[in-house]
Amino acid sequence: MRRSLGHRRARRHYPYVGPEEVRVPISSQVAGHPITSPADLTEWLARQDASDRREPFTFVIDQSTTLRLAPRRSEHVVCAGGAPVLSAGEITFEPDGTGWRVSEISNQSTGYCPEPHFYAAVQSALDAAALDHPGRFTVPFIFRRCESCSQFNVVKDDHYVCAICDEPLPTSWNADTPASPHPK
Ligand SMILES: [Zn+2]
Repeated sequence: MRRSLGHRRARRHYPYVGPEEVRVPISSQVAGHPITSPADLTEWLARQDASDRREPFTFVIDQSTTLRLAPRRSEHVVCAGGAPVLSAGEITFEPDGTGWRVSEISNQSTGYCPEPHFYAAVQSALDAAALDHPGRFTVPFIFRRCESCSQFNVVKDDHYVCAICDEPLPTSWNADTPASPHPK
């Protein structure tokens, strides 16, 4: 499917689709830290363990197109304060002069399952924060729910087949499909 990444319609608000036990009421917990400038990022990284600073952090792009960061292995839904997001995944930084730049970024979030070609919101947030970034997801993930057995799958090598039941997976995004209470 051809899409214009810079176009406004190349955006989507992703509701949380992960396990109920991880779901948090909106704003019930401190959400990820907003990053709107290189100084914000430098200050936030300085508060993380030194051994963690070059490792992937949890990020979301919130509905106001702001980058929010949370410590490693945080749940995306907590980072987002329970709200829908424009994107989510993992982000890695590397030193860049006196500051930091984005070296790797993925859409790996099983809580939101964002689509890999919707980078536009990430681009807007990182550009607004004046952070250098790769301009695409360097590690793209494709998530599909099996319509036969309800299993969440990560599609690899364009192989759209359920890992559990071998049924074909849909070619279009369906992560917000409710799990069937009575899978076949
Ligand atoms: Zn299946």
